[in-house]
Amino acid sequence: MKCPICNVDLVPAIRHKLPVKTCPSCKGMWLEHEELAELEDEVFDFGDRWKGTLVFDSTATTHRCPECTALLQRFQYRDYDAQMEFCPNEHGYWLEDQEDTRVLELMKKEEGALQRKLIAEDQWGKLLKHMRSPSFFSRLRDLFR
Ligand SMILES: [Zn+2]
Ligand SMILES: [Zn+2]
Repeated sequence: MKCPICNVDLVPAIRHKLPVKTCPSCKGMWLEHEELAELEDEVFDFGDRWKGTLVFDSTATTHRCPECTALLQRFQYRDYDAQMEFCPNEHGYWLEDQEDTRVLELMKKEEGALQRKLIAEDQWGKLLKHMRSPSFFSRLRDLFR
């Protein structure tokens, strides 16, 4: 299997705990077809949220599938503005090294933001609950007396 970019032999590797094939030259990653789902689950388990975020603009690239040499098609992962390529014969996905790194960083950031949001919502919930309590009501009444 050759790298679609550099045409050097891909080597088996483990990335995100997944068996993938990487290029020793450009560090790009070839994910065989089923493995995208595992990658998603691994780093970003928000159920079906990610579905519908793929944009198939289907621009043909000059890169060739390592398996069947068909021209890879480019698509976009909307949420992360990530460019990925796939084999039209469903052999797999090509992900450039900097895209992989960037998306992972974005996912971590989003996870962090989500946790902060949950904390914020929790605090807001407690405040509302507190506002509904008789003691808060009575104090509020006292203010307007
Ligand atoms: Zn390469
Ligand atoms: Zn192919």
